[in-house]
Amino acid sequence: MDNETGLPPELTHADIKEMLIRLKQSEARLDMVVSSTKLGTWDYKPLTGELTWSKECREIYGLATDVKVDFELFAKQLHPADKQYVLELIPQAMDPAGDGTYDMNCRILRFDDGSVRWVRSQGKVTFNLLGQVEFFIGTVLDITESRLAAEKSARLAAIIDSSGDAIISKTTEGIVTSWNNSAERTFGYTAEEMIGQSILKLLPPERLEEEPMILARLRNGERVEHFETVRVTKYNKKINVSLTISPIKDAQGNIIGLSKIARDITEKKQEELRKNDFIAMVSHELKTPLTSIRTYIQVLLSRSKNEEDAFKVNALTRADVQAKKMTSMIQDFLSLARLEEGKIHITKEEFQLYSLIEEIASDAQFLTSTHNVKVVDCTDITIIADRDKIGQVLINLLSNAIKYSPKGGKITIGCIKNDDDVKIYVRDEGIGISPTDQKRLFDKFYRVKDEKIKTISGFGIGLYLVAEILRCHDTQIKVESTEGAGATFYFMMKCS
Ligand code: ADP
Repeated sequence: MDNETGLPPELTHADIKEMLIRLKQSEARLDMVVSSTKLGTWDYKPLTGELTWSKECREIYGLATDVKVDFELFAKQLHPADKQYVLELIPQAMDPAGDGTYDMNCRILRFDDGSVRWVRSQGKVTFNLLGQVEFFIGTVLDITESRLAAEKSARLAAIIDSSGDAIISKTTEGIVTSWNNSAERTFGYTAEEMIGQSILKLLPPERLEEEPMILARLRNGERVEHFETVRVTKYNKKINVSLTISPIKDAQGNIIGLSKIARDITEKKQEELRKNDFIAMVSHELKTPLTSIRTYIQVLLSRSKNEEDAFKVNALTRADVQAKKMTSMIQDFLSLARLEEGKIHITKEEFQLYSLIEEIASDAQFLTSTHNVKVVDCTDITIIADRDKIGQVLINLLSNAIKYSPKGGKITIGCIKNDDDVKIYVRDEGIGISPTDQKRLFDKFYRVKDEKIKTISGFGIGLYLVAEILRCHDTQIKVESTEGAGATFYFMMKCS
């Protein structure tokens, strides 16, 4: 040892200078870290009662730099609910029998505005040779935001766990990342059994293509809501589920996963099947007598034409139109029942669009004297499709155009032919449809809730059938409308 400096003799002044520079650098680095993390530091010397708070520590507590801080002042700002716990922890940390460390979360009341903040405080006690606390230093960090976020996510987790629906999240590759209690009840697998596994485990083999289809729809920005399908449980039981799937996006808007709510609708489906059987049976029973009524009307009509009795002809023509209207309603009910049972069959044939449209338009004209039904540009177009079903689509669109134009006006059924396809449209000048209703028009049993149409009768199945029949023809019904200014329903068909 050097007698004068107490340093090892081999250290030169240059070495010491170098060490001091390094010390200063590391102090500066520490300062930078502390200020960038907003980490407050404190220093307590119980022997003298001296307590020092850094600038950041004062900012957390909302204490001005010129106010002297002491232990009493610190204790006064502890939240009443946490005070006792904190005041017990401090002496424990200062007990030489312990490990001299201190780490706790508590609430404080800020000096300036009295607001409640959550802080995390960590400290370390240094004892002197007599076992007394020489100093007690530590850090303090405002954790209010992360604490609130944690509380929020705990609340959300509790809601998810208590939900009656299965709530599942998965990666875009279909690997399950979360699985709530209800998912366990619905599908029989525990979270341990499913997390990390492929969601394909739940898909029956004949529906494996649904997963990429759903993902493609979400990527297209489409919503997947109340998608009714079938899944398989752990015990190999098929269940009917209704799925609502939303994308989970990162800050840049990229889809990084999917969240899925699955509701077991097996009971509801069985109930629906019973209802369908009933509808099918009633419709069928009604159809038989109605067919014979129509036959008699037609026989009478042709005889009256020979007798040249204008009143009879007119009355029977009207009776025939009304009976036709009823047949078409019953036809809709039968189609609905068949569709639900998956028994809708498309029998395609090649036919002239004009003859079908003309037939339907003139029947529709008979139903009304206040509307003028016009056919535009539909000659010389042949398509290959199910003639009866496309007829049913057009009848439904035309009868809606009449029903929802209570003041009358022009109704146009027209065609716009391109090279290989034709756009078929039905346009009216009626009450129109709001943008919100346009999104749900094609749902089963959906009817617009509006005072204006309260008195217009209907069952809300016409457009659903239109959409389904066209889906079976690989095309889609679309609508353009402005409320109060009419509506145009249209779809595309391939020409032959
Ligand atoms: P329904 O006419 O039997 O109620 P639809 O399925 O045919 O059932 O139609 C669903 C709903 O769409 C109707 O209740 C009506 O509110 C609305 N709608 C259908 N067509 C039109 C139209 N051309 N103009 C205005 N609203 C329409």
